[in-house]
Amino acid sequence: MRLSRYFLPLLKETPTDAQIVSHQLMLRAGLVRQTSAGIYAWLPVGLRVLDKIADVVRREQDRAGAIELLMPTIQSADLWRQSGRYDAYGPEMLRFKDRHEREMLYGPTNEEMITALFRDSVRSYRDLPRTLYHIQWKFRDEVRPRFGVMRGREFLMKDAYSFDLDEAGGKVSYNAMFEAYLRTFAAMGLKAVPVRAPTGPIGGDMSHEFHILAETGESEIFYDSAIEDVDVTDPEAVSKLSSIYAMEAEEHEKVTNCPVPAERLLSRRGIEVGHIFFFGTKYSAAMGLSVQGQDGKPVTPQMGSYGVGVSRLVGAVIEACHDEDGIIWPEAIAPFKVGLINLRSGDAACDVAADDLYAKLQRAGIETLYDDRDERGGAKFAGMDLIGIPWQLVVGPKGVSAGVVELKHRKTGERHELSVEAALEKLA
Ligand code: ATP
Ligand code: MG
Ligand code: MG
Ligand code: MG
Repeated sequence: MRLSRYFLPLLKETPTDAQIVSHQLMLRAGLVRQTSAGIYAWLPVGLRVLDKIADVVRREQDRAGAIELLMPTIQSADLWRQSGRYDAYGPEMLRFKDRHEREMLYGPTNEEMITALFRDSVRSYRDLPRTLYHIQWKFRDEVRPRFGVMRGREFLMKDAYSFDLDEAGGKVSYNAMFEAYLRTFAAMGLKAVPVRAPTGPIGGDMSHEFHILAETGESEIFYDSAIEDVDVTDPEAVSKLSSIYAMEAEEHEKVTNCPVPAERLLSRRGIEVGHIFFFGTKYSAAMGLSVQGQDGKPVTPQMGSYGVGVSRLVGAVIEACHDEDGIIWPEAIAPFKVGLINLRSGDAACDVAADDLYAKLQRAGIETLYDDRDERGGAKFAGMDLIGIPWQLVVGPKGVSAGVVELKHRKTGERHELSVEAALEKLA
């Protein structure tokens, strides 16, 4: 992408309405703009990151055997009356009427809708177990939307729902999602701490939240420091992690004799980026979902639901990965892999060399943002640092005459001069 033809409105000043660094950087680096309280437009660079995060989530959901579908954002109130949650959900639900005076709502979550879809399509035990998911916008009329996309009113969530014939099967599905979540956050370069969590309005009897540690996190979590030593990609990770003490504050307070020695009990702030629940027959029973069992008798399926805050993750990653110059994207979710800088746009030799390198990067399929604008070198460096592209390639007059380019690693700051061929080989 040529920056001279792109849409990347950077801000020089730190916006005063943004309180935390990720929100400030998302505005300064041109990722999002607020259009009304807690509602954001995703600008091109922000959208690229959002899509990459969704792709990582999708890949790990698919790997875990979950099946993607897409449900609508708008739901009917009747559906929620079937589960009894329409009145219980309260003012976080955005309710409205269509032109026929039918009561509608903008979905805050999809347990009711998926239960109805499954109920109306599935008859036999042979169709279970299944886990279905979608990645769709949600709306919750948060009393205090804040911190940018971290607590928005409209936000993107991946939500999955499992259907099993018995409780043991339900726990297998739950653990498969637990593992998928560990892989998902690790693949984004994040360390997420799973903690036991209260089940809240979703209901149920088993629940874990996944937290990214950050001073600005809105949750408080308590855990045994031993949890930090568990290799989350280990096949035993789920059973190891669930046997170590780790609690969201509300759960921790219920514990009268905490088994963890004081020197190992850590208290930290966390950003909730994922939440999994097992709630048995709560929705299937209320909504009349039943299938014919192997013995011919009706079975009420056991269900779980599993959310990831896709848009919240954009902010959470920045909280975890930045320095004083800007964002430092983990490679797996970076908007571009390479930022190509022409240090002297307008100089014929530099223009030819940079254009040629850009063409080669494109042919090699390397996602590149090419700063070809007529701007000072200093401004170009600062812009690339701010946006946080993992690799910067610099074409300048000295290098061009010597036949070399400079490659800078955003995270470590390391710089090397090397030939164009060597640079391409390293980035491929
Ligand atoms: P929170 O405690 O932050 O209000 P929640 O527990 O109400 O979140 P869940 O119902 O568990 O949220 O939804 C699943 C995931 O959706 C959360 O773990 C979080 O990552 C994301 N999420 C929830 N509310 C918001 C929001 N207002 N803005 C952005 N992401 C959100
Ligand atoms: Mg909430
Ligand atoms: Mg919560
Ligand atoms: Mg939650």
